[in-house]
Amino acid sequence: MSGSIVIVGAGIAGVAAAYHLAVRHGCRDVKLVEAENPLSMTSDKSTEAYRNWWPGPDGAMTAYMNRSIDLLEELARGSGNRFNMNRRGYLFASADATRAPWLIEMAELAARHGGGAARVHGSAATSAYSPAPDAAFDAPLAGADILTDPALIRRHFPYLNGNTKVVAHVRRAGWLSAQQLGMMMLEAAREAGVRLVRGRATRVETRGDRVSGVRVALAAGGEELLAADSAVLASGPLVKEMASLAGLTLPTFAEPHYKISWKDSERVVPRDAPMMIWLDPQQLPWHAEEREALAADATTRWLTEPFPGGAHGRPDGSGSTGTVLALYNYKNEQAEVVFPLPESEHYGEITLRGMTTMVPGLQVYLDRGARPYVDGGYYMKTPDNRPLIGPTPVAGLHLSCCYSGFGIMASQAGADLLTAHLLDKPLPSHADAFALARFSDPVHLARIATWGDGGQL
Ligand SMILES: Cc1cc2nc3c(=O)[nH]c(=O)nc-3n(C[C@H](O)[C@H](O)[C@H](O)COP(=O)(O)OP(=O)(O)OC[C@H]3O[C@@H](n4cnc5c(N)ncnc54)[C@H](O)[C@@H]3O)c2cc1C
Repeated sequence: MSGSIVIVGAGIAGVAAAYHLAVRHGCRDVKLVEAENPLSMTSDKSTEAYRNWWPGPDGAMTAYMNRSIDLLEELARGSGNRFNMNRRGYLFASADATRAPWLIEMAELAARHGGGAARVHGSAATSAYSPAPDAAFDAPLAGADILTDPALIRRHFPYLNGNTKVVAHVRRAGWLSAQQLGMMMLEAAREAGVRLVRGRATRVETRGDRVSGVRVALAAGGEELLAADSAVLASGPLVKEMASLAGLTLPTFAEPHYKISWKDSERVVPRDAPMMIWLDPQQLPWHAEEREALAADATTRWLTEPFPGGAHGRPDGSGSTGTVLALYNYKNEQAEVVFPLPESEHYGEITLRGMTTMVPGLQVYLDRGARPYVDGGYYMKTPDNRPLIGPTPVAGLHLSCCYSGFGIMASQAGADLLTAHLLDKPLPSHADAFALARFSDPVHLARIATWGDGGQL
């Protein structure tokens, strides 16, 4: 018996929750409250990529993402792949041969966590390595192929920097259309009886110490109190504010993140290329006179100084409409959530230049003075960079939020876990790793003080 459930927020987390409850589990009384257009705040800003490669520090993220990808594949199979899921993989690349042992170690760690085998290919002559097929979205191949022979790398990835010495090709990875996925789930959820309520949730009402309803300022004017046995906060960047109205302080903070896109009119990046990530720190490539002028000015000198590794990008679309999407998280700073998202100075220029280090052919767009389109949103993060999914100290109030830079790929396992909590079903082994209660556990807090960024992209 599920009772009445009100979900606040129709981003990918809220829509997936509505879909799982109504379509997969037959819940009859589910309402989805959305203040803007569904899927329009963060969920349409992403790079739409997914991977089961989460090298550390334990296996929870791998188990969680494997489950999410299983469910994405199921949806793709059931819909004739309406949301264009592919299996092109993630390609981590470096011009530093000494990174090879570290990449192999990461791949072996990922394997121990259930990400699939690590395979090292040392020689172009004998290697059986082959890049992922273009169209398949559910090829059985998982794990990672590590290529340490520059000749083998050049054979398969001739567009990468000619000095590339090592790459790791993660296989259970690729991308999809998040908008199509979201709309498909929303349509099915509404057909199964979910009511989409257009308006802003202003309060979670309680009776005694239990949720009793959600108050909504309707977009069409007026107010409605939606009676609820359970409420779910899937409010993306606004979740902290929404939770505080219910008396909860969530351990979360926001980081603005941006991406660029531009038309690849010269077809520099093959349409079947994987998601490519340049691991090495770099100095942005400038012409000598540009560098001199930038260095001479105290406000622009930083553009000539070293930048960290992590520039990444992928092809999108095909033929004459083909574009390249790229991101470069060279500074991760906490910020207040404000809309519209403030501009990040020189982001387009920096990211395009950073990408030319990995794919030198993209230089043609710098020479032409290309001005990529920049957009972005907020990564909502917790101190261990894992989401919050499940109950809160307020009986009946649940969370599905803080999906950082992986909320699209995480959407299915997130809704799956949330639903198990809401419907009192058996919980998967990774449930505790995503429960709010972990932040009241001193052992967990001490442990995460030693964690890195978990391979954030
Ligand atoms: C640049 C960038 C690149 C990314 N790349 C990837 C990627 O490659 N792969 C990946 O998996 N993820 C990626 N992400 C992350 C992913 O986009 C997010 O984790 C995900 O979209 C979060 O979804 P959400 O539903 O939690 O939030 P949102 O999409 O922000 O949805 C929250 C919704 O709640 C509504 N809302 C809030 N408060 C209220 C209220 N009081 N009443 C009514 N409605 C309310 C909002 O209007 C909004 O529609 C990226 C993100 C960014 C910014």
